[in-house]
Amino acid sequence: MNKFIFVSGGVCSSLGKGVSASSIGALLEGRGLNVCMVKCDPYINVDAGTMSPYQHGEVYVTDDGAETDLDLGNYARFTNSPLSLVNSITTGQVYQSVISKERKGCYLGHCVQVIPHITDEIKSRILSAAKAAPDTDVVIVEIGGTVGDIESIPFLEAARQLIHELGKGNALSVHLTLIPEVAGGELKTKPTQHSVKAMQEQGIQPDILICRAPVLLEESTRRKISSFTNVDFNAVFTSYDVDTTIYEIPLIFFKQELDQVVLRKMGVESRHAELDAWHNMMERFNARQGKARIGIVGKYMELNDSYKSVYEALFHASLECGIKVEMVKIDSSRIEETSADVVLGKSGEAIDGILVPGGFGQRGINGMVKAAAWARENKVPYFGICLGMQIMVIDWARNILGWEDADSTEFNKKTKHPVVSLLEEQNDVKNYGGTMRLGKSESVAEEGTRFMVAYSEKSVFERHRHRYEFANRYRKEMTESGLRLAAFTPDGGLVESVEWNDHPWGLGVQFHPEFKSKPTAANPLFRAFIAAVKAAKEEGKA
Ligand code: GLN
Repeated sequence: MNKFIFVSGGVCSSLGKGVSASSIGALLEGRGLNVCMVKCDPYINVDAGTMSPYQHGEVYVTDDGAETDLDLGNYARFTNSPLSLVNSITTGQVYQSVISKERKGCYLGHCVQVIPHITDEIKSRILSAAKAAPDTDVVIVEIGGTVGDIESIPFLEAARQLIHELGKGNALSVHLTLIPEVAGGELKTKPTQHSVKAMQEQGIQPDILICRAPVLLEESTRRKISSFTNVDFNAVFTSYDVDTTIYEIPLIFFKQELDQVVLRKMGVESRHAELDAWHNMMERFNARQGKARIGIVGKYMELNDSYKSVYEALFHASLECGIKVEMVKIDSSRIEETSADVVLGKSGEAIDGILVPGGFGQRGINGMVKAAAWARENKVPYFGICLGMQIMVIDWARNILGWEDADSTEFNKKTKHPVVSLLEEQNDVKNYGGTMRLGKSESVAEEGTRFMVAYSEKSVFERHRHRYEFANRYRKEMTESGLRLAAFTPDGGLVESVEWNDHPWGLGVQFHPEFKSKPTAANPLFRAFIAAVKAAKEEGKA
């Protein structure tokens, strides 16, 4: 039988619940157990796909094309949990399916209510996520939001019922809270006491507390928290602020023996902890030398989470290439207002490499095209992801082929040179949710391309999330003028990657390689990009 861990949060949001849940998962995997991670999101959107990256951060895409919450990206980076549509549960999905069952008459005349119908639907979705991964030993369910939020109540109620039904030892509650520091440096436990009371009012007694604090909590503070909350003293842990990397958190929890307490409370025997991959990663972190400035030229720059997986993948590549990466976030409209050289050049941000990530809509596009042209002309390494590849194609058409009005039909429907355009099948799409080219598909590399060198494989599987494509009718003119088409779909029907010849490293891909990068194994394209930036820097010095 599976064991279940429910991870909830209190006091306020952004305490790192996703990272805590993922770190517990990483530690249990270190003990040889298989984990399955599940996220419950209290919002009414059916999935994260229709939410603005400005407000909600990145949309994380799974192999099966589910557009999920960015916490699933944390699960993918910290653990080997299977991740698909079933691992992301939202209020929207739950209500949608309860209402459709009601319309079909499935409730046999009953009045349909939050309890039991909504909570039953939540429970059944959690249990089916576990069933979808039959080898799972431990299911870790993260409940989004903060205890006390109206929206979270049905999820906490479902968790309460499951904890009761599964029985002691089979399901644990892990609660994350905040220990703030007030003037004079004093740490305050009162918000944590209140947060645990709020959990108890929901009928859940936390078994384990993780306290987010500036420093490791002293024994006396932990004893005080324990006596106020009914949580065992040895089950009160600290997630203290780190100035290294979030990937140190599994090791920080391990030092406090969090995994041992979890295993003991669940009565699970396990092997000795094997955490070499995490220790090695920290060694690489400390061994990095020098620094490269990577300009990320996009339009959702204000919120750190908008390109979360891209930033993480750059960091993973920095670990493998032994060079620190400073991520310089550049709103492309800045380049539009002045020039690429003023913003990116030596007297501006002094950028060593440019990355143009995915994006939607017209705003800022011309600034991105200017950034790509600048990288191409000045032989600065350039990596284009999805929109970033389309930008390379637009720059080539405008500046090499001289078609000044060349564009994607996403931005200019009337252009005479629609070098990026809609797939035929997308022409009639009216709904926005879940209707793009989504999820895992195969790309086949051309021999001798940088693409192929990076992956050292001809056939690769990466994830897509876009509507527009390289327009095939321009293949001949693009290639003849020197743009290399580097990878295609297996039937040759769609262009998946383009490259610049006679350039240190300029490559664009129509998919999103960032979704499959891990701190212990960077995505090959990110690794190759940072390696090229490092090489160009060294050459510049010589
Ligand atoms: N807006 C572009 C498209 O739909 C690119 C999407 C993306 O970058 N994810 O094709």
